Amino acid sequence: MWQGFGLSTQVKKICRVVILMTQIVILDEMENEVVEKIKRLGSVVYLPANLKEALSSAEVLIVRSRTKVTSELLALAPNLRIVARAGVGLDNIDTKACEKRGIRVINTPGASANAVAELTIGHILSAMRFIAKAHHQMKNKIWDKKNLTGQELEGKTLGVIGYGRIGSLVGKKASALGMAVVAYNPPPRREDGIARFVELDELLRESDVITLHVPSTPETKKLINEKTIAKMKKGVFIINTARGDVIDEEALYNACKSGKIAAAALDVYEKEPYAGKLLELENVFFTPHLGAATKEAQARIGEELVNYLRALI
Ligand code: NAD
Repeated sequence: MWQGFGLSTQVKKICRVVILMTQIVILDEMENEVVEKIKRLGSVVYLPANLKEALSSAEVLIVRSRTKVTSELLALAPNLRIVARAGVGLDNIDTKACEKRGIRVINTPGASANAVAELTIGHILSAMRFIAKAHHQMKNKIWDKKNLTGQELEGKTLGVIGYGRIGSLVGKKASALGMAVVAYNPPPRREDGIARFVELDELLRESDVITLHVPSTPETKKLINEKTIAKMKKGVFIINTARGDVIDEEALYNACKSGKIAAAALDVYEKEPYAGKLLELENVFFTPHLGAATKEAQARIGEELVNYLRALI
């Protein structure tokens, strides 16, 4: 008899703990290991089938870049305290709407920087030596050696637009490969003895390779457009691993087609998944938003996220 009574007290206790546990909803796919760690912080609903029901009690919402955290979505979560973005860019989150509701927005800014910087260097090398193009041709049994004479990085000038965490790492790695680095970044700047800071026009005029590492803001929207492209050297290479809307895709298409731009390499697009007309061009190379997609970066993102949440919950 007493055992039965003991059991029901235990069950009551468990129920109380479950009710008091922070309700966490994860809306984008994450590595199993990270999900397991998050489960130690509260009661987790992972990729809910019924979004409305899951959000009705959510206190913490975790997303990557796929889910758009709009004011409509926020309205479904009356108890929300924290929106956590596993990654850097907050452009998929209506931060103003969060601020109005007193919802804290956190991200993991440093965790993926090296991964993005390495992908950027990979794109530069691949575009300048036709690595992706040659691979594609050989898969189609084409041996076109005579048309694949590339260019070396050594002695060329790299223009970095946005010299923050990722931009400065790209500068450091490019410098180690023998490139001169110029950067455009309004103050405050990361002075590192590697980049020479210049105005945008000078960067556009001088650079053999231009790489973008600015956030998506009203000021950076279509920063690379018909006018800015006109100021660049003929035969320049453009790399974008920042955000798609920083480049006017129509202007990029025209400049790659005309040969003003020798080649472009893109990891990010205005609309993702990308299926637009740049895919028709032989001198534009693509990766599907792989910047942070390394085992190391994902582990760091998970770790940073769990540490932040542990401190806040
Ligand atoms: P960061 O904040 O460290 O650096 C951005 C820099 O841009 C800052 O130094 C800032 O002063 C500068 N800046 C802002 N507005 C500018 C302007 N109008 N002109 C010139 N410079 C300007 O950010 P970060 O961590 O280096 O990230 C940079 C970009 O990379 C972001 O857009 C981010 O979303 C993107 N990103 C992409 C991936 C991917 O998977 N491809 C992964 C992570 C980050």
